[in-house]
Amino acid sequence: MKSTMLSGKTALVTGSTSGIGLGIARALAEQGANIVFNGFGDAQQIEQLHTGIGSEFGVRTAYHNADMSKPAEIAALMAFAAEQFGGVDVLVNNAGIQHVANIEDFPADKWDAIIAINLTSAFHTSRLALPGMKQNNWGRIINLASVHGLVGSKQKSAYVAAKHGLVGFTKVTALETAHTGITCNAICPGWVLTPLVQKQVDDRAAKDGIGNDAAKKALLSEKQPSGEFVTPEELGALAVFFCSPAGNQVRGVAWNMDGGWTAQ
Ligand code: NAD
Repeated sequence: MKSTMLSGKTALVTGSTSGIGLGIARALAEQGANIVFNGFGDAQQIEQLHTGIGSEFGVRTAYHNADMSKPAEIAALMAFAAEQFGGVDVLVNNAGIQHVANIEDFPADKWDAIIAINLTSAFHTSRLALPGMKQNNWGRIINLASVHGLVGSKQKSAYVAAKHGLVGFTKVTALETAHTGITCNAICPGWVLTPLVQKQVDDRAAKDGIGNDAAKKALLSEKQPSGEFVTPEELGALAVFFCSPAGNQVRGVAWNMDGGWTAQ
């Protein structure tokens, strides 16, 4: 149901052409926020996606194709948001990639890309968004970390390092804004069935010679006690809570939504 909680506000969701970012963008649009989309994909499909969400919820949307590994493109994205909407009120640092390999086999360029996209991009967007948020004395920064911001898994060294870094960065951002109307929190999902995870399902199916469903079950049963995937819709609802007045004093948390993964 459409609400007006975020009417007149603008949300920038990085990596919102797919998966969790798209789910969060939809949820914020449903609350009346204008949305700046970002991420990769087919230009025509992205155009249809963002204009479709705009007309479904009666909000303004725009899209910028910044590569979040490149600081100059991130600066261009932030300038675009300021030019189109007057700034960013809700910043969702969501763009992310994964690569799975043992440390000794981990390609150095993949390490650099994961740190740049999953961690450093949040520093650049935050440093550029904070002055406007401070001027308005209102803002929300939501960093998409992971259970891997709280615990490790083998073969995910760069990802775990980036996500632990992002949880630390979240705490510092929350402390530096504690006396303002700006909050910063991290969301730490367990397995969510998005293209990022489907690739790991496919790799598991190929490695073990099993089908798609059996590979999904195998991945879930190892880590996620619920045996169910978390959904982008559930994560969108958590982002909406962080944006609500009830979230005013929720500051610097790393909130896991993980089917019990980190309770073990
Ligand atoms: P996804 O692959 O479905 O979406 C990733 C998005 O990021 C896409 O829109 C993609 O185009 C964009 N992107 C990738 N590289 C980019 C770049 N250089 N510049 C700009 N955009 C870029 O993945 P997802 O599962 O929705 O992941 C979203 C976030 O959630 C990531 O930070 C991921 O680490 C985190 N996460 C995912 C899971 C999961 O199980 N899927 C669990 C925990 C955390």
